[in-house]
Parts: sequence; structure tokens; C-alpha cells
Amino acid sequence: MGWLGLDDTDTLDEGCTTHAFDDLLRHLPSDVEVGTARLVRLWPFASGRTRGNAAVSVELLTKNEAALMEHLEDWWQTSLVHLKGQHSISHHSSRQQQSTDPGMVWFSHQPDESAYWMTVRGEVKQRDLPIPDKEWGGLGCIGAIAAAAWPKHHSTWEGIAWRETSSPNTPRRVCEKTLKDIDEWPDTFLSRDPRRGVSLIAPRGPSPVLLGVRATSESTASAALSSLLESQDTEQASSFRIFQTNQASGDHLDGTRRVTIESVDVVRERKHATIQSSDGAMIAYAEGGPINRLARWLQPGDVVDVRGLHDPQGSLHIEQMKLVSAKARQRVRPSCKMCDVRMKSMGANQGIRCPKCREQHADAWIELEPEPPYLDWIEPPATHRRHLARPLEWGVPETRFEP
Ligand SMILES: [Zn+2]
Repeated sequence: MGWLGLDDTDTLDEGCTTHAFDDLLRHLPSDVEVGTARLVRLWPFASGRTRGNAAVSVELLTKNEAALMEHLEDWWQTSLVHLKGQHSISHHSSRQQQSTDPGMVWFSHQPDESAYWMTVRGEVKQRDLPIPDKEWGGLGCIGAIAAAAWPKHHSTWEGIAWRETSSPNTPRRVCEKTLKDIDEWPDTFLSRDPRRGVSLIAPRGPSPVLLGVRATSESTASAALSSLLESQDTEQASSFRIFQTNQASGDHLDGTRRVTIESVDVVRERKHATIQSSDGAMIAYAEGGPINRLARWLQPGDVVDVRGLHDPQGSLHIEQMKLVSAKARQRVRPSCKMCDVRMKSMGANQGIRCPKCREQHADAWIELEPEPPYLDWIEPPATHRRHLARPLEWGVPETRFEP
């Protein structure tokens, strides 16, 4: 028995790692007992990684490991090695393309979980990871090792179905009524966007994935997947499988930082906010919704608790935030009633003037009391969270398991 890991087989034309893995698992020698398939999301900023940065692994039981190795060698040569060098979609931009470099690994004993924690929280070189008993391919071996090492401290489930190969680029047909129904089940999550009522289970664009339905239990993931696939209004799937996954585990975040705000800069057109804090630079993108709104509200001297990931340039991308204390807001000049532009002083005791329409006014101030937009922990809307992000509704951040 042992552990098989696979990564970096996502290509623009042919597919995705989960599909390649399902294919591999369905063609194993008949004496091999297949454990639960695992879908493991890794550090989103890793260089050369595909969108979503997911690797897969499984425990395999066999009495004849040598025969299994021979089979895997054949499978690698016939079904996987040709994926190397194909284009995949980078996580940086939907237009930027990256070359795939698939990797597959075998461990007779599960590698130490430290390999997982390193790879889910930062950039890793393969030389820093446990050496597989057998390995095939290149860069993908890093994710494959991490997936094999995943210790499952926090896990959820995803039922994934793949399309018939004849329909790779047509719009996906998934029963809307069944989706609404399963979205109401207490153990499913992220099935529909609660704000816009649109599906979150089907990917867009070229991918063999028909749908992936997420749940906090295996039985619910399985039941939800069955409901969707059995519906007349859902297109025929070629195959399906339930994965145990580290999605929504929060494993990528290593703790809460309490920081004091030093300055806030907002990119005017796009509303992205860049914050300098006592703990370095922090970023709150416009897509972050409440995170961005609070970030743009902050002023020097305010204190916040933040959780997030540092990008390779050292900026913390804020994923969860809570206001701890706010300085009294300074007094400001009133706005021009015509232009809604802040009026400016014309000099000591000379009144104020609108910089736009030049309307003048007697000297005046407005006192600003802190009126924070949020007092509790906040997070981006469901559609703009990372796969790894643990929703706040499952509990506010606390001291978590720290490896
Ligand atoms: Zn004016």
C-alpha cells in the first residue's frame, strides 16, 4: 500500500487534474483497492502554477506494489507525459498562459504532514520536500507530494462530474431547480451566489468539468451530486467522483496579526486600497467587498486584526479583518452643495472656496466621529473568496492548529 499524488495536468484544451486523476483511478489493475480521492488546494501565489492551484492524491492498497509501479509507469507514458508543455491558464490572469509540467509521485508510506503545511502556505522547492519512492515528471511533483502529505485536519467534500468529450465548449446544462433545492440543504456550501442567485457549481470556459458541488459531509456531497445528475435538465455526465478536500479549511492562513494603520492609498478608478501598517504593506482589492470598504475607511492610528497571505513581494492580501479601535476622525471642511467636492481654505480667516465652481463660504468645519462600516469580522463575498478560505459563518478566527 502507499500514496499516489498527481499535479499540473491542467491544460487549455484537454482538461484538468481531477479528470486525468479520475481516468487513472478507473483504469488501475483490478486487485488495487482505491481509497478516498483527495483534492488539495495549495499556496495560490506559487510561481508557474495553474489557476486554482489544486493537486490530487489517493491511498492505494495492493499486495503487488511492483506490478502497480509497472502499471503507473505505462499510464504515465501513454496518458500523462504528453501533457507536458501544453498551455494552461495561469492564476494571474485569464489571458496569461503557462506551460504545464505534470508530476506524479508514489510513496510507500505517507510523507510527513510538514510537506503539506509548507506548500499550502508558501513557495517551496522540491529539494525541501520528502523524496518519493518513485516519481515521474517535473514541477508538478511539488503539488503531488503536498497532496499525498495532506493530513486532513480540516476537510470538506466536493462531488465532481465530468462532461462527455463531445461537448467541451458548449454552455453547461445543469438543472436550475435542483441546484436551488440542494443549495437549501444545511450541509452544502457555495452552490449559488446568494447575492445574484447564480450558479457557483459549474466552471465557465473550456474544461471537462461539468460541475462540482461542495458539502461539509461525504454523504451530502454524494446525495447532492446524485440529485443534480439524475435530473432530466442536467446534461449527461461521462463520470463522477467524490473528493475529500482542504477547500474551506483555512489551512493557508497562519494566524491573526494586530496592526496599526500608518497610511491608506486608494487607486481611484478601481478602488483597490493599499495600506501601510506597523506590520508592512497590506492590499484590499475592490473585489473584496466589505474588506475593501473597511480598508478605504481606515485612517492612520486605527488598529485592526487581519488574516491573509503574503504575496511574493511581501504585501499581505487581506482575507479577513476586524476593526479593533478607531482614532477620532479629524474635522474636515464641508463639501460644496453644488459639486459635492470638499471646499478648501483660502487662508487664515478668509473663508473657504469650492475648488471646482469657486463658490465661496464663511469659514466652517465638520467634526467626523468614527462611524466604522463594520464592527465584526468581515470577509469578501462568497464569489471572491479563495478555495481555501474558511467562511466566517463557520466560526470567527481563533487560535488554530499551528504545525
Ligand atoms: Zn462647487
